[in-house]
Amino acid sequence: MTIRPNSIEARDVARVMHPYTNAVVHEKVGPMMIEGGDGIYVIDNEGNRYIEGLGGLFCASLGFSEQRLVDAAHRQMQKLPFYHSFGGKSHDTAVELAERLVDLAPVPMSKVFFANSGSEANDTAMKMVWYYHNAIGKPNKKKIISRMRAYHGVTIASASLTGLANNHRDFDLPIDRVLHTECPLHYRYANPGESEEDFATRCADALEQLIQKEGPDTIAAFFAEPLMASGGCIVPPPTYYEKIQAVLQKYDILLVADEVICGFARTGNMFGSETFGMKPDIITMAKQLSAAYQPIAAVMVNEKVYQALREGSGKIGTFGHGFTYGGHPVATAVALETLKIYEERDMVNYVRSIMGDFQDGLHAFADHPLVGNARGVGLIGALEVVCNRETKEVFDPSWGVAAHVGERALKHGLITRALGDTVNFCPPMIITKAEIADMYARARLALDETHAWLQAGRPA
Ligand code: PMP
Repeated sequence: MTIRPNSIEARDVARVMHPYTNAVVHEKVGPMMIEGGDGIYVIDNEGNRYIEGLGGLFCASLGFSEQRLVDAAHRQMQKLPFYHSFGGKSHDTAVELAERLVDLAPVPMSKVFFANSGSEANDTAMKMVWYYHNAIGKPNKKKIISRMRAYHGVTIASASLTGLANNHRDFDLPIDRVLHTECPLHYRYANPGESEEDFATRCADALEQLIQKEGPDTIAAFFAEPLMASGGCIVPPPTYYEKIQAVLQKYDILLVADEVICGFARTGNMFGSETFGMKPDIITMAKQLSAAYQPIAAVMVNEKVYQALREGSGKIGTFGHGFTYGGHPVATAVALETLKIYEERDMVNYVRSIMGDFQDGLHAFADHPLVGNARGVGLIGALEVVCNRETKEVFDPSWGVAAHVGERALKHGLITRALGDTVNFCPPMIITKAEIADMYARARLALDETHAWLQAGRPA
């Protein structure tokens, strides 16, 4: 694309720095300007409509034109446009939202702390874990374990939890105190002939070995996203969490479930923790909490953690942490309305009624010459692109094959996202069966064209 002088695209290139964007490429190709939304579609500034196959960034659960959320924000802005929660201040929508979240929790929970993004929620959970161990008189128990290929955010602490080279390499991360254990992706990391259960046992053994090596008295918490969405939709094998949780219990290690993507019906239950049998002490959430119409995140803690934090404020000082906009009245009002919509439309059962079509359509790609593995749960899934289906050999990353699939999909009116070697699907949960079929038909064109491009010797 040529960028016309003085166009909005040229002005973007001149002044906007984009997240996760190669600056040199961006200067050449310019931005994609999105101007509006309609159901599961977004519309660019030339009027082209795209199925948002990733719900924006795994978040726009109710699509892009839910008037009730607009009205909820408007009403709240007129009533109380801002107030904070520091020093014991409060307002009704924050209270109601906290009550609602505790009601919905997959395991008994006690209190909710609000933040504005998934990264902030995970940073907050890390600080709570550290404060907790200071409060209960175990100040050496501070190390946190997450997994390779995990995604937990980009702030310094949450980027350390993240287990992707790109988030560490150029920033001298992770920080001390954060360790990474095995990624539970059977397709990639199982030994030849190893069953899913045996692989799960090996992952749990590796965790235990790491704990032993570091010293059990130094390990504070294990952070896990029920299924690892941004790592390429990594669905843990059966028995994985059962075995992992047995290890955590043995060494008195807290479990933090990162429900930032899995939360709110995505996996066919209200929380991914239910789908995978996790019993967390702390849950972080964001994204679908407000259907992405407002930035909001939350950290929910159980009574055991709360009691220690409470007693800590007498012993070691007030919990010195909080964000100006945490529990913002407009964001909490929109999140409350979102949860009302989920309830009224029975979103969990709606997802269950369409997820068979979603998964069947995804797995129908399993015999495509470029696809090594199709995997997913509920309304989330990914295709792993390989250059040899027998050996599972991946393409040279510099070819950008998965990214090429994404580019071809755009030409056919579908937005997906390439993450490493995977092409990802996580559409708005309001999608219909017919729209799922349409989404995959567009994806198939993109894959076929990418295959043809590779057959033709990968011209520029
Ligand atoms: N946790 C998970 C599981 C995520 O997928 C993300 C974002 N994709 C985050 C945390 C970070 O959220 P945010 O971008 O809102 O900081």
